Amino acid sequence: MTAISNALRRGSVAAALRRSHPPRLPSSVAVLVAASSRSLSTNPRQVVVDNFVSSSPPPTPQRRWQQRDDDVDVEIMRHPNDVNDRNANYIDERGRSMSGVVSAVRHDWTRSEIAEVYSLPFHELMYRASTVHRMYWDPSEVQQCTLLSIKTGGCTEDCSYCSQSTRHKTFVKPTPTMKVREVLEAAARAKDAGSTRFCMGAAWRELGNKKNAFGHILEMVRGVNGMGLEVCCTLGMLDADQARQLKEAGLTAYNHNLDTSPEHYPNVITTRTYQDRLETIANVRDAGISVCCGGILGLGEKESDRVGLLHVLATMPEHPESVPINALVAVEGTPLGDAAASAEGDDAKKAEGIADVDAFDMARMIATARIVMPRTMVRLSAGRLSFTDAEQFLMFQAGANSIFNGDKLLTTDNPKFDADAALFRKLGFVGKPAHAGPRVAPSEVSGLVEITRVSGGAEDERQYA
Ligand code: SF4
Repeated sequence: MTAISNALRRGSVAAALRRSHPPRLPSSVAVLVAASSRSLSTNPRQVVVDNFVSSSPPPTPQRRWQQRDDDVDVEIMRHPNDVNDRNANYIDERGRSMSGVVSAVRHDWTRSEIAEVYSLPFHELMYRASTVHRMYWDPSEVQQCTLLSIKTGGCTEDCSYCSQSTRHKTFVKPTPTMKVREVLEAAARAKDAGSTRFCMGAAWRELGNKKNAFGHILEMVRGVNGMGLEVCCTLGMLDADQARQLKEAGLTAYNHNLDTSPEHYPNVITTRTYQDRLETIANVRDAGISVCCGGILGLGEKESDRVGLLHVLATMPEHPESVPINALVAVEGTPLGDAAASAEGDDAKKAEGIADVDAFDMARMIATARIVMPRTMVRLSAGRLSFTDAEQFLMFQAGANSIFNGDKLLTTDNPKFDADAALFRKLGFVGKPAHAGPRVAPSEVSGLVEITRVSGGAEDERQYA
């Protein structure tokens, strides 16, 4: 059992099972990592680990949960923190199944396949997404992040949803970049409130030649990182050298949303292209920074645009480490905010998607993201204030495993720390620590997930030696 615990702490369940059940019967077929302990008790079915067979059952779920309750620090098993290390542990994995639902990390999704998932009857979609979520994640762990606007308003871009654009008359007054000390104080408050990732956003098109501001931002990144928090920035377009410097300063992740599908994008923003955004995302990935990239519902998009956005994300060379799903917070004075206000009670406009996003829209989008990118953290982001606790629960069941806390999300209102703390207590959630990989899914630990691997023979075995 020690071998299991050690290997699981390193994130490799298959390796753990291999060590604890030495190979006895070679098989030419790559089969299953584990079968449910319940089926083993009623049916002496052998557990097949790649090309080796063991007759010993995996640990039971009850025992695992008991151990976790008794000694949380020792018994909670986590994947490696680095997303590349996590993925490397599963490089030979071909798929998973549990309770009749099959899943795989794929990069070859077609748009029609994603549309098929998105269009499932709601009850079926929720069942599948929730099961996929439990195959890859511990559903009780939900990361809390805080997003601070370090430079507000005065942006020359024309994003039609944004309160910070100079092209829209909104309540936002431009303010200069915050001082490093102020930002670190805000980060300390967020940390005290349970946040483990601190994101800093600046309202401008790109970092460009802003040498002074960039110097301060690098200091902020170092400072927040030094406080033991994960650090994320959203600073518009970046070039490769800026991405490298941010990485060296300790940046964990970089957010750059695609917002919507390539087809609908020009209806929302005209001052920079979809391709510009994809290039920044590539620069971030190439610098070894985790990519955070998602979208917004309520931009007047059709359902096919939501599918189109997920298709772009799910066919990237690596799925983004995190995908934020936002509901438009309609701000008076922005083109989309004004359109949403005038759409109230207008069925024709509602049919065009210019209206409030409801909880079912959000849950459907989150569930589809969970299914097509099973190892990605799906972040329930802007718009939470318009959803009840029960509606948010629907979104967690759909596979969301992160929220943004704090009473402001850039310039718009967000639930208060206390409200989220109460929600977490009500739903039995715990936050994810900073700089720690996610928990290994309890269903994987307990052997309820069947994992199919490629049979690599001796070479495959060496990988875990
Ligand atoms: S979303 Fe960003 S780039 Fe677009 S207008 Fe707002 S601050 Fe500027």
